[in-house]
Amino acid sequence: MAERYYQREIETMPSEQLKKQQDEKLVRQVRHVFNDVPYYRAKMEEKGVTPDDIEGVKDLYKLPFLSKDDLRETYPYGMLAVPLSDCVRIQSTSGTTGKRVIAYYTQHDVDLWDECCARAIVAAGGTRDDVVQVCYGYGLFTGGPGLNGGSHKVGSLTLPMSSGNTERQIQFMMDLKATILCCTPSYAAYIGESLAERGYKPEDNELKAGIFGAEPWTEEMRRGIEKSLGIKAYDIYGLTETSGPGVAFECREQKGMHINEDHFLAEIIDPDTGEVLPDGQKGELVFTSLDKEAFPLLRYRTRDICVLDRTPCPCGRTHVRMAKPMGRSDDMLIIRGVNVFPSQIETVLLHEGYAPNYRIEVDRVNNSDTFDVFVELLPEQFSDTVSAITAMERKLSDALRLMLGISPKVHLVPPKSIERSEGKAKRVIDKRKLHE
Ligand code: ADP
Ligand code: ZN
Repeated sequence: MAERYYQREIETMPSEQLKKQQDEKLVRQVRHVFNDVPYYRAKMEEKGVTPDDIEGVKDLYKLPFLSKDDLRETYPYGMLAVPLSDCVRIQSTSGTTGKRVIAYYTQHDVDLWDECCARAIVAAGGTRDDVVQVCYGYGLFTGGPGLNGGSHKVGSLTLPMSSGNTERQIQFMMDLKATILCCTPSYAAYIGESLAERGYKPEDNELKAGIFGAEPWTEEMRRGIEKSLGIKAYDIYGLTETSGPGVAFECREQKGMHINEDHFLAEIIDPDTGEVLPDGQKGELVFTSLDKEAFPLLRYRTRDICVLDRTPCPCGRTHVRMAKPMGRSDDMLIIRGVNVFPSQIETVLLHEGYAPNYRIEVDRVNNSDTFDVFVELLPEQFSDTVSAITAMERKLSDALRLMLGISPKVHLVPPKSIERSEGKAKRVIDKRKLHE
């Protein structure tokens, strides 16, 4: 089947033309920010850069970075680049890593964001004939509003479910014959589990695709969700600071997410030195917004760790692809001196045949780190003997040691004893922070 695009000309624009457009937009955007955001102007002055120094993307490295700390410092309106009366919307981060930051949007900014989400929906096969069930949270969180707006642009029938009330989600999914499901991957896994518990088979629903993001998830988790819901699962990425979901989205190739480069310039930097790294190297993702009016962040450090890929994609889209982020630099746990990402643990659990229901607990006892992983037994394993379960715990601990380089204490716990997530899953409890 021929590939469909929401904005073919933009999404498949030859690289040179795209680059020329980005150069022009960047020059314009830097002037806008310099003139209208005193906080950033001061940062530029401190670095000795003026808008005249920025002739195009090649000069991007000269600009100062912004981080979440800057946004907290300038809260609430210190980064506003247009009169507040021109703004029509406020959204806010989920506050996963501390005090929430807010973002503001003009109508132009909302349209731009909705279009990015529409590109994602069309890339996942969405059309005006689809029924799009949005069970990301609605409200200050960007997930619900973003996919809702995108679905409207595509002309699909939108079910603005918001998160939670799984019983009703399932009822509407079945009664209204939803074809595309949008939520966090952890909630998608939970919906899959809940459907099975009610006796539904994957082929009983009308879903064909899911658009899942807002938190890190592994390939293993993807395959599990695809199987349990009988769909193709697409990744979508974004953050409030750049708009929300839709900054990048997956095409049918499922080999990285295309970044909407006509709006967002991406760089990968070394998180320690700030040095720009060549494509293909792993580092921290940094975004510069080229078109946003109200909240146009330049060189915003996401703390998400990933890799960019500029090799051509068979889908025809020319925009650069980002690998699935492994997690944020601040999600990374340092346990007994070893770097551990929760996503590595998830990979092992799913590979070993467990469900993605787990909790990681880290503590410090007598100056030494403790590291416990709680994993649910599958219902059919629950009746196993104690010695069988102990052997399974040992096997899982060995598999985790191979992946991580250190051994956790594995606890297999009864099915359903780990809390399910309706939004972003909270899987790590680091008690060391409480003692500090
Ligand atoms: P918060 O920073 O408080 O969580 P947001 O709701 O804006 O606020 O979340 C944005 C963050 O969510 C991103 O920086 C990233 O860490 C994570 N995220 C979003 N989409 C994905 C995805 N598809 N894969 C991995 N992480 C994601
Ligand atoms: Zn592609």
